[in-house]
Amino acid sequence: MNTTTSQTLFARAQESIPGGVNSPVRAFKSVGGTPLFINHAKGAYLHDVDGNSYIDYIASWGPMILGHAYEPVVKAIQEYATYSTSYGAPTELEIRMAELIRSMAPNIDLIRMVSSGTEACMSAIRVARGYTGKNKIIKFEGCYHGHADAFLVKAGSGVATFNIQAVPGVTAGVSTDTLTCAYNDIEAVKKICAGHMGEIAAIIVEPVAGNMGCILPEKGFLEGLRNICDEEGIVLIFDEVMTGFRLSKGGAQEKLGIDADLITYGKVIGAGMPVGAFGGKRKFMEVVAPLGNVYQAGTLSGNPIAMIAGYTLLSELNNNPSHYAELDQKTTYLKTGLTEVLQDWGQPFVINQLGSMISVHFSDVPVRDFSTASEANNDRFKKYFHAMLNRGVYLPPSAFESWFLNNALTKEDLDKTIQATRESLQEII
Ligand code: PMP
Repeated sequence: MNTTTSQTLFARAQESIPGGVNSPVRAFKSVGGTPLFINHAKGAYLHDVDGNSYIDYIASWGPMILGHAYEPVVKAIQEYATYSTSYGAPTELEIRMAELIRSMAPNIDLIRMVSSGTEACMSAIRVARGYTGKNKIIKFEGCYHGHADAFLVKAGSGVATFNIQAVPGVTAGVSTDTLTCAYNDIEAVKKICAGHMGEIAAIIVEPVAGNMGCILPEKGFLEGLRNICDEEGIVLIFDEVMTGFRLSKGGAQEKLGIDADLITYGKVIGAGMPVGAFGGKRKFMEVVAPLGNVYQAGTLSGNPIAMIAGYTLLSELNNNPSHYAELDQKTTYLKTGLTEVLQDWGQPFVINQLGSMISVHFSDVPVRDFSTASEANNDRFKKYFHAMLNRGVYLPPSAFESWFLNNALTKEDLDKTIQATRESLQEII
């Protein structure tokens, strides 16, 4: 595979951009090698600047749920761009977007648009703190809620990939208000709550974790969180930045049948444009300015191009829920094929999957939290990643990330991925 142009661009990028990338995981630092510079993408395929094509299992980390350059979205963006790209004044489009989200997802009485998942999560904890008058939050080791200071404690995604124990620049004062414990450990949550009676504003959780690979909530975990929050007057925040509108129309809340108080979104709701949102039950959201004094704002929030892109994609998902059944079938087909190949290979592995989120860990114990994800053989993952890339399959460049399927993938693409895995495993052992 010739990647000369990517290599040249990467060298050039490093002269002007920290590490040559605008988001750390893109740098391939943990898997080694040169990141590929993308020229364009269509459907399930990425095409790099050297003319190589790859089946894409990142889908822009989630949003390209119906594939890249999805025509209705492209058309809508082109049409609306001629009206102007931003007004800084309200549009009807924002109401339509809010109404559509409310009709698709449970427990959204009010919703505010922002420009990223980070902003959504950071604003949600401010709302929880403003509403309860308490300061501390509980988050789970290996969960990632964006790069706001409060979340950079035992975080997943790039923080885990680069093994950053403490992020310089985050003050100790902020960090002491973030309490952490292991995912799926409800007893640990109870213990923390008992030790900090009346101090905890919110529990924020990825209802299906995607930032330490894909990790499923065990039976009773989310239900337990719901009960604790009800008993202790704590606000339960579901970070649905990955799971929202991906696992089902109503996200993880609907798929798993658990109600959250506040919910954060990103990814799919912008169809690849920079968008996030936080919303929830009226009594909590009513504290947000200008209704209340919990101040939150954004010059580009509700940006018309982002709104029309997201609205167009969400409308399609709303009108044709068969997309979810298809995505589930495709992911199950992939899981079955990969399982067969990995079993033939004979080395330990774990595949976690729910809906169109899936990941492979090279581990001989169930991967159920950050410590078990870290104990997996991540050197083996690196080799697997490169062997797959050489065969035209683009997996997330870290074992601490979920794969995201898109509905443009065909059976041939999935078969090719399974066959590439067979060949890759033979190569790496
Ligand atoms: N929450 C979750 C669950 C995420 O996966 C991410 C990003 N991957 C974020 C929040 C932050 O979103 P953004 O990168 O758009 O700020």
